[in-house]
Amino acid sequence: MSASQVMKSAEKLPSNLFAMVEPMEHEQVMFFNDPETGLKGIIGVHNTVLGPSLGGCRIWNYESETDALWDVLRLSRGMTFKSSISGINLGGGKAVILANSKAKRDEKYWRRFGQFVDSLNGKYITAEDVGTSTEVMSYVMQETKHVTGKPESAGGTGDPSPFTAYGVFLGLKASIKQAFGSDSLAGKKVSVQGVGHVGYYLVKHLTNEGAKVFVADINQQNLDAVVRDFGATVVGTHEIYDIDTDVYAPCALGATVNTDTISTLKCAVIAGAANNQLADETIHGNLLKDKGILYAPDFLINAGGVINCYREVHNLSEQEANALIEGIYERTLGIFARASAENISTQEAAIKIAVERINSSKAN
Ligand code: NAD
Repeated sequence: MSASQVMKSAEKLPSNLFAMVEPMEHEQVMFFNDPETGLKGIIGVHNTVLGPSLGGCRIWNYESETDALWDVLRLSRGMTFKSSISGINLGGGKAVILANSKAKRDEKYWRRFGQFVDSLNGKYITAEDVGTSTEVMSYVMQETKHVTGKPESAGGTGDPSPFTAYGVFLGLKASIKQAFGSDSLAGKKVSVQGVGHVGYYLVKHLTNEGAKVFVADINQQNLDAVVRDFGATVVGTHEIYDIDTDVYAPCALGATVNTDTISTLKCAVIAGAANNQLADETIHGNLLKDKGILYAPDFLINAGGVINCYREVHNLSEQEANALIEGIYERTLGIFARASAENISTQEAAIKIAVERINSSKAN
């Protein structure tokens, strides 16, 4: 491309890129591009006060480059809060790759990604996320040691989803206790949206404790598995917002808690695995509070996976990691107490606690 062509495309860029980065307080954003393999993406390093930034690498067919930038910025910020509130010494980071997540990519592609991660000298540690896997990480680790979620055969802890699901289950139980006075799930009705890696294990925990579980998914195979293995009841993908349940557990997509769905949801509690469940954390956090629906902040209760990655980084024993995951129950109750004492939304209370830990660590 000639210099004048480059200038012409630069004119189309927003002139205020820093206006996206500054309010969210990112330390660093790296764009990477490898014409040979076609790899292109962005790494967001949000905050490294507590430790190196850690977060998964997502591959997604974004509608625009601005969408990709926005995604990496908000996801890496969420990782900062997630690690801080979980009491682990990691910061928040994330990588997004702009590509069709379904296409098969070769070893060279992923090794090149590993080289870009390595160029940050440990400021960012990668892991698997939507569209990536332990197999991908086995290629990445050939180029950098700053990688977690490695296959068990390579000394890693494998798929983080069962750990995430266990943490979500404990956060959900704490929410039930807050809302109903007892954390027993016997006879409670729970709707689970998305029964993939995390949703499957969540349904297992819920049905083991006697909950009646309703599930919705766009993937028939995944639905068949939870019906066959746990006797879950299938409902439609729109119906999931309308049915009369005690708990709605979003385990598929972000932003499903929004003005439309809040007006139809009949549950007392929202507690699930999906990241960024609130379409707008202030507006919808407050709307839920006003409507009397108890919301368990996603970054608080879905931290089991990152805690498991922390285990790899710091060579913790399985017992030590489990103890951190089990702490999600008490931490969730703590957030509810803080929200109620200050008459603020549970989302705001959780962010406050996460930021306070970072600030007090800065002061030391
Ligand atoms: P996954 O891709 O394995 O499962 C997602 C499921 O949601 C799939 O079965 C998919 O078919 C279904 N789905 C997609 N669109 C849907 C729709 N419109 N309605 C109903 N179902 C739909 O992902 P996962 O690893 O189980 O993660 C689930 C969520 O939890 C994601 O938002 C992810 O970011 C978040 N999360 C996962 C982990 C983890 O350890 N895997 C950790 C933290 C957060």
